[in-house]
Parts: sequence; structure tokens; C-alpha cells
Amino acid sequence: MTTTAQVPADSVPPAVRLEEARRDYADLLGQGLKLDLTRGKPSARQLDLAADLLSLPGDRYTAADGTDCRNYGSPDGLRELRDIFSGFLQAPVDQLLAVGNSSLELMHDCLIHALLGTLPGAERRWADEERIAFLCPVPGYDRHFALCERYGIDMIPVPMTDAGPDLGEVERLVAADPAIKGIWCVPKYSNPDGTCYSDEVVRGLASMRTAAPDFRIFWDNAYAVHHLTDEEPEVADVLAACAEAGNPDRAFVFGSTSKITLAGAGVAFFGSSPANIAWLRGRSAKRSIGPDKINQLRHALFLRDADGVRAHMRKHRAVLRPKFDAVLRGFAEALGDTGLATWSTPKGGYFIVLNVPDGCAGEVVRRAKEAGIALTPAGATHPYGQDPKDSVIRISPSYPDLEEVEQIIRGVATCVRLVGYEKLVADAAK
Ligand code: PMP
Repeated sequence: MTTTAQVPADSVPPAVRLEEARRDYADLLGQGLKLDLTRGKPSARQLDLAADLLSLPGDRYTAADGTDCRNYGSPDGLRELRDIFSGFLQAPVDQLLAVGNSSLELMHDCLIHALLGTLPGAERRWADEERIAFLCPVPGYDRHFALCERYGIDMIPVPMTDAGPDLGEVERLVAADPAIKGIWCVPKYSNPDGTCYSDEVVRGLASMRTAAPDFRIFWDNAYAVHHLTDEEPEVADVLAACAEAGNPDRAFVFGSTSKITLAGAGVAFFGSSPANIAWLRGRSAKRSIGPDKINQLRHALFLRDADGVRAHMRKHRAVLRPKFDAVLRGFAEALGDTGLATWSTPKGGYFIVLNVPDGCAGEVVRRAKEAGIALTPAGATHPYGQDPKDSVIRISPSYPDLEEVEQIIRGVATCVRLVGYEKLVADAAK
């Protein structure tokens, strides 16, 4: 959930605070930093955790069922790998495909196939509709929004709450407008605000009345196993909820091992109803003669089973957690009593959301860049790159090493104080 920072009364006048911030910013400029916090990529230390993958599958090439992984075929992917991820992605193994290396590619393909083919339950191809639109919970993931923009799909922002997208607003919109064909959801440890959807929201999304008969929930479960604490929340099973509500074909579930093993060299998954699985399988058969089963075999041998995944994710947590703690500690120390910022405290995933006073996010990112700190562009968390309040900044602490994260956060906090007090002083002079 995103809240705008509220500025409380401070006994020291803002003009004095501004002078302090200016001095700190001048120091920051003098440090000649060159640091990058733009994308939520795993660090080399995290990738090293999967080093054994590079020598697997050794001289082995047969899957558990005897399939020769060196050859074409097995369009659904290797059963043993789908078995490992079926529980985490909450899709029965027969309704789970392991294909390709990227879940984003699968989301892209689903959009394309819905545009150029006819989805189960659709009256016509989406390309033949006068207008189509997707609901975009904000803040959200810029690459989802980029897909919509690329294919001329209108984006309608809906606010996130601390239980997921604002259900009342979603229900109202989808009931009224048949052009609304889908919604983007990152149900666990949302990118970027870290929210986990409540059972009520999952059930609501599954059962709501939609004016479009071919409405789809794009359920991007990218962070299904990416815990940062001992609390390991279970988000409700969306495929089961849709089936129970009489909308069995409503949800497309996506996932991948990108942030489990090797980013971009992992395996992606698609889970859905039998009808949707048959639909995608049929469309994909024209596109590919089968997935990379050697990579799937290597993954199955490396991860072994669900407990193997859990154990591996604990190693990621040991690397990531100190960086998240450093961000939270850094913000608390530098901004805690200023009232200039609020931030999320995620229990998993890859991101922290920093909320600064309205109208300040773009300027904070610009000042940080001047000081050699590259942040995700302000607005990236919103459709069309436009955050109407200009108040949300996405922080992704995974890639830099711990000392760099600490340095970056001190620098970002200085920029927030500089821009925030500049605004306070300017507002007071109006
Ligand atoms: N979805 C979300 C929400 C993500 O944050 C990311 C990675 N940043 C992806 C999808 C991309 O996943 P993949 O590598 O499987 O394409």
C-alpha cells in the first residue's frame, strides 16, 4: 500500500533544515559516487548459490520417465520439475506447463494469443474489439504496463490497499465496462510495495461479476517463495477460487525460477484451467517444437523437491535480508523524525516503496542522479510512467553489495531531505 508522506510540525524551522540538507548534499556531490539501484536484479552472490547448475546435468540426459531431453518434444515440460513447483504456484501438475526461460515472455504470449486468437469464453479476438483495457493496481510493475502500452491496451489504475487491489473499485469497474479484459496482479510480496493479497481479495477477484465474458486475471506469482522472514504467508489459491466461483477460466498463473536460480537462464511456468492450458498448448505448438528440457532437467536435479527449493531460498534470504534491513535502518535514522517520507517494510520479494511528499519523487531521483546514484525513474510504478502525485520511488536493494546499499540509502535520504525542505520552504513563501 502506498501512503503519501505527511509532514509533521518540527521545532526547527524548515529553512534551517534546508541549509543542513544543502550542506549534506554538497558533501554527497563531492563523493563522486557511481552507484546503481535501478533494477531488482539478483546479486552475483545470489547467482553463485546456483553455481552447481553450471555443471549439471553432467552426462545425464534422461528424465525420470525416460524422455531423452536432448531431443525435441515434451511440450508441457518435464514432469519432475512441474511436480516441484505445482504446490508453490498452486496449480495441479496437469494444469502447469514448464516452458521457456521467462514468465514475462509467457505473459506477452498470452496477450498476443488473446489479441490474435480467441480465448476460451471470448466472443471474438481482442484485436477485433473497438477498445480493450486492463486494470493496473498501483504502484505496480513497469514491465506489465509496458506490455499494455506496446499493444495499445488502455490502462486503468486502481489503488493498492494493504490487502491487495481496492476490491470495491475493481468490482465496480469490471462490472460496468466490457472493454476491461484483465487485471495485473502480483499476489505475493507485490512489486513494488510488498503486499500479500488477503483471502477476501482473492475470493472477490475470482467471483466478481465482469461485463467481459473473457476477463482474465494475470496472476504473476513472481515472488511465491521469496521470503525475508520466518513468516511464510500463503496467499489463497486463485485457480481453486475461480473454479469454485464458477469462473474456472478466469486466471492465468505465471511464475519462474529467475530469482530462484539464474535470472534469465531459468524456467518459466504457466498454470491455469484445463481449457486455458489446452488453448495455450495449442497456440504454442505452432511457435515451438518443445522447451529446453536439458535446462529443466538441470533444475530438477539441482532443486530436487519442494524442500530443496525452500532450503535454497533460505540462502537467498541470508544474502538479501541484511540489505533490506540496511535500507529500513537507513531511512529510519535519516528520515524517521522528518515527516518527509514513509516506506514499506516488506516481508519478502525484492522491493521497498519510498513515499515522499507530493510533487517530489521526480526531483529526488534527479538530484540522486546528479550525485551519481541511479534510481528507478519516478513514475515507473504507474501506467504510462506517470505517477499523478509524483510521490512514489521504488527501491531495489538486491544488486549492490551491502556497503553500497548503505551508501546509496544515506544519499537518497539526503536527496529526500533536500527536495522535501525545498518544497516546504517554497510552500511557506507562497
Ligand atoms: N514479474 C515480476 C513481478 C517481476 O518483478 C519480474 C522480475 N523483475 C518478472 C515478472 C520477470 O520474470 P521473468 O524473468 O520470469 O521473465
